[in-house]
Amino acid sequence: IDFIQRLPKAELHAHLNGSIPVPALLELFKEYESSFDIENTNHKLSPTEILAGINQLQNLDLSSLHGFFGPFAAVYALTATREATVKITRAVLSQFLDGDLPQCSYLELRTTPRESESMTRLEYVCAVLEEVERYPKEKAGLILSLDRRMKPEVIQQCVELAKSLREEGRRVVGIDLCGDPLAGDMSKLGPYISLAKSAGLGVTLHIAETKDNPPEESLKLLAYKPDRLGHATFLDDEALEIVLKEKICVELCLTSNLLCKTVDSLEAHHIRFYLKHDHPIAVCTDDVLPFRNSLLAEYALLMAQAPLGLGLSEGEVARIAEMSMQSSFSRR
Ligand code: 5GP
Repeated sequence: IDFIQRLPKAELHAHLNGSIPVPALLELFKEYESSFDIENTNHKLSPTEILAGINQLQNLDLSSLHGFFGPFAAVYALTATREATVKITRAVLSQFLDGDLPQCSYLELRTTPRESESMTRLEYVCAVLEEVERYPKEKAGLILSLDRRMKPEVIQQCVELAKSLREEGRRVVGIDLCGDPLAGDMSKLGPYISLAKSAGLGVTLHIAETKDNPPEESLKLLAYKPDRLGHATFLDDEALEIVLKEKICVELCLTSNLLCKTVDSLEAHHIRFYLKHDHPIAVCTDDVLPFRNSLLAEYALLMAQAPLGLGLSEGEVARIAEMSMQSSFSRR
């Protein structure tokens, strides 16, 4: 653990509302429960419904990745105010960056600009940014996620938000595409990606997360020339050739893939393909709340002997950590 902890490494794929430490979420739940008022428009779910949703999220009884996204409504019910957003962001940043056992040297946190009864998207993003900006630039940056379920006008609004905040010198470093992998039409994203790029924002896209994602969709997403890819589990040969040729960094989340059953075993994990080709990758956590993992544990999986882990040497693991640092959007 000493070796893993000392390695300078970047966490590049962590979703804010999926990374809330359990004690912070419990605290919010207690506050919600004690002030629960059915008439309050911020209180969309009853405490019982919230507990059921969080249980569902943590027990991951999934027949397909599709079912992973609904239970996030329970988390969102607890984080719908500015105060709650500040609390969870502070707790997530601290979980990765503070204390005796920091998980990483640099955290590129991502979140979907969200509006609620009490916050506009701008207010939500500013609440998150203020917490991110308490850390130096070399330690923390923010990516704004576009949810595949968003309408085009909302996607445009989010990219314009990212662009204007960046132009004001705020710490927005990139955009992401996430959300239910089978939702939305990805053929219309071009103008928004170009807009983000024109502002110097990095672009990372969740791609080919399930075997139901058509190969044409992956080729379309690759045609937007992203800087990084999330998961990239089911790319076909044609897409893989592009990824290798253009040296696009792939953010890989081992535990997430195993628990969501998109990969059967570490033996079968596509990380082996990228390692064989000495291709840029970043090992990441994705969502520590449902997956109960940590970045140190993901690195421990790299080093543990088979069948528990990949049995990589210290040199190989150090190279992976170095690639994660080199692939961050922080130097843009
Ligand atoms: P947020 O963006 O609200 O801070 O973080 C939670 C959201 O991230 C989820 O509602 C979902 O849209 C997205 N997300 C979290 N994990 C994954 C994942 O593994 N794949 C995809 N496609 N989206 C995810």
